Amino acid sequence: MTKPENKGGDGVLSQRLLARTLGVDAKSVRVENIDLVGDDLEIRLRPRIAHRGRCPHCHQRCPGYDPGRERRWRALDFGRTKVFVLAQVPRVSCPEHGVVVAAVPWARHGARHTLAFEQLAAWCAVEMSSTAAARLLRCTWRTIGQIIARVVAELGDDELLEGVTRIGIDEIAYRRHYRYLLVVVDHDRRRLIHAVDGAHPTSLNAFFDLLGEERTQAITHVSADGAPWIARTVTRRCSQAIMCADTFHVVQWAGDALDLVRRELWNEVRDRRPLASRRAYGEGKVLNESRWSLWKKPENLSDAERARLDYIAATHPRLHRAWALKEGLRVAVTSTGPGAIAALDRWIGWAQRCRIAQFVRLARRIREYRSAIVATIEHGLTNALVESFNTKIRLITRRAFGFHNVNALIALARLTLAGQRPKLPT
Ligand SMILES: [Zn+2]
Repeated sequence: MTKPENKGGDGVLSQRLLARTLGVDAKSVRVENIDLVGDDLEIRLRPRIAHRGRCPHCHQRCPGYDPGRERRWRALDFGRTKVFVLAQVPRVSCPEHGVVVAAVPWARHGARHTLAFEQLAAWCAVEMSSTAAARLLRCTWRTIGQIIARVVAELGDDELLEGVTRIGIDEIAYRRHYRYLLVVVDHDRRRLIHAVDGAHPTSLNAFFDLLGEERTQAITHVSADGAPWIARTVTRRCSQAIMCADTFHVVQWAGDALDLVRRELWNEVRDRRPLASRRAYGEGKVLNESRWSLWKKPENLSDAERARLDYIAATHPRLHRAWALKEGLRVAVTSTGPGAIAALDRWIGWAQRCRIAQFVRLARRIREYRSAIVATIEHGLTNALVESFNTKIRLITRRAFGFHNVNALIALARLTLAGQRPKLPT
């Protein structure tokens, strides 16, 4: 047992040194005791007078309620040794917030880890795999999820919402496609500005409420997928904005239509041998394997995939025509400049006459969204941003499975994609 302040002339230095290694300001705490308990280092702290008896919410000094109890926080490790901070924390009676545990300078209200530890955990959550982060910090991924939700709750929205003019609205499925996040991106600053559980008019209206009247009126363009409720809400809340189609989803519709054609053909040609192993044979197998070749952009195809596509061109002309239609639409809606709109109209004409039911239907749908797609082409709202966000958020949702908590998922998305990447504690 050591009393750092009693060690002759070194007292002040070791107070400062310890406070610094814990990531707290030596002016706000006193180190009362250090003890090695088993393999853990326990450091007993006491807030200095100016930092005692304050409400954790409003930081006002409040009358004491009771002496409270001893609490324990995990702090940054000293090398291989786990470090814990201990302190007796009284409860105070705040006129506004009632009886609450008093604030401490080294941790957030209700946290079981110090501020420095939480900062490091947030950095690890963004920068490394969940397994690596959990092993390095020696805590569970789930705990890291709770920590980042707390870190993000302190970040303000104003910085993200200030000065936005062109936004994209998207719904993203998480947890096996029956729950949705509503996600809003800023096209100009290329970052996530809002993410919330539940994609429906209520959550979108809440976003516009958060944005406020003035900032809502400043919005000039809104891109969204084909969901009619988004268009309706946007028209009601910011009628001055031009609605643009989010071409990433338009290309997805074409991909879905193509897949329907492929499956229809697969049903016609597959070998009806006993399907005990549920494996496809013969032509059915070829069609199964061609799924990715048909779906990918031609410039990303490997040699084997290109060969598969050539085989389809030679043996299944109808499927190949469907593939050409999908590619034609992708090129038409993702190009800009003069000619792009004419290309779109040519595509609609081509698809209407193609005699492939799925694409005739798609042509009808595209014609309904034509003005929104034309707006996208004319205003140069690129599809790349929404597409890359979609990919990244999908990766994040997969990593966030272990959190079992949608707020932790949203926190991870915000830390990663909102330009608010945490800094390493120094
Ligand atoms: Zn208070």
